[in-house]
Amino acid sequence: MARIVMKFGGTSVADLDRIRNVAARVKREVEAGNEVAVVVSAMSGVTNQLVKYCQDLSPLHDAREYDAVVATGEQVTSGLTAIALQEIGVEARSWQGWQIPLRTDGAHGKARIDGIEGAELIRRMRAGQVPVVAGFQGIGPDNRVTTLGRGGSDTSAVALAAALKADRCDIYTDVDGVYTTDPRIVPRARKLAKIAYEEMLELASVGAKVLQTRSVELAMKERVRVQVLSSFEEHTGGNLPGTLVVDEDEIVEKEMVSGIAYSRDEAKVTVRHVPDRPGIAAAIFGPLSAANVNVDMIVQNVSADSMTDMTFTIGRSDLARAQAILAAHQAEIGYAEMLTDPDVAKISVVGVGMRSHAGVANTMFAALASKGINIQVISTSEIKVSVLIGVEYTELAVRALHTAYGLDA
Ligand code: ADP
Ligand code: ASP
Ligand code: MG
Repeated sequence: MARIVMKFGGTSVADLDRIRNVAARVKREVEAGNEVAVVVSAMSGVTNQLVKYCQDLSPLHDAREYDAVVATGEQVTSGLTAIALQEIGVEARSWQGWQIPLRTDGAHGKARIDGIEGAELIRRMRAGQVPVVAGFQGIGPDNRVTTLGRGGSDTSAVALAAALKADRCDIYTDVDGVYTTDPRIVPRARKLAKIAYEEMLELASVGAKVLQTRSVELAMKERVRVQVLSSFEEHTGGNLPGTLVVDEDEIVEKEMVSGIAYSRDEAKVTVRHVPDRPGIAAAIFGPLSAANVNVDMIVQNVSADSMTDMTFTIGRSDLARAQAILAAHQAEIGYAEMLTDPDVAKISVVGVGMRSHAGVANTMFAALASKGINIQVISTSEIKVSVLIGVEYTELAVRALHTAYGLDA
């Protein structure tokens, strides 16, 4: 007997038939004698639609009201899944974030989990009830609903698994595991039986949407056993069906590059002709950080006549906010002009083997050059190299790199 958290993503609960399929899977785990808690996402496409409603009404909408709107998708699926379970004889009850409560900080739209009260859920699970938790949402210090950032149900699931001291956190999705890159872009991508926390964390943080970054961060910290698997395929026999996220030392063969990720959710901002003096970076990035705008890649040009250009990337959804903030601070920063480009993509190659191999970045640059793809910004870390390119080259770049690093199946 084990205690399991089962998380089902948007495509897994996209309609009533799929919700019935989810219920049947949960029932099987319950009948095998396990204590099960379920976490669900909104039906696929629903969150996008809700986000669009907010944006269409106001690009600079109040983040608290955004949360009130977008959290509704998961309220619907948690209730429907509980009904589907009851319908097949499984005792089940839906839980919204505020009911548990799942407490978060006050960063509406991308809140972080502060704590989960697990005692009542554990008591009910012991008594044979299946809690069906609405993913993606919590309650903030202002007593308002908060959401955890796009893809946040993964983080709800891992946090719940930690709070419930679950033996496993199974992430059911529309692919049967973590691949060397998005299998929808590269059909020759290979499924990984295991991936190290560090690599998964880095891949997620640079755009591999199969797991939300924070869910991996949390799994690593809380030692949660995470498994990614398909909610559509039947898993039979003893062989591992999906991908297990594990400690680096559990992986015997360390590839130089284990995965490639892309993100089209980027925007590039250039602040032109700013005085090159101490404090200028703080003047630009301070107000952005105060408004919860995450800045990613940064380059500062060499200065001519004590003036310089600063180029950086942010999430595309933050672009309107960042523009407004920088415009409001133009006098203090002292820049001449602000240029923005939403048509960029970030392509990254990731692998723990990079620590001990030279030439990884050069292989990347050569592969992109051979396809005539121009690199706009470069950034590196110990186990990652990222480049910013024109968004129209995304697929071409990912495929070329997948081949260049010998990852094709
Ligand atoms: P869910 O709604 O179940 O959370 P997501 O759409 O958030 O599903 O994540 C699953 C998707 O992640 C897959 O359909 C796939 O297109 C994408 N993906 C991106 N990179 C990878 C990767 N390296 N391995 C597997 N899937 C990936
Ligand atoms: N429904 C939310 C989203 O689309 C959360 C999730 O699916 O994990 O971002
Ligand atoms: Mg997801």
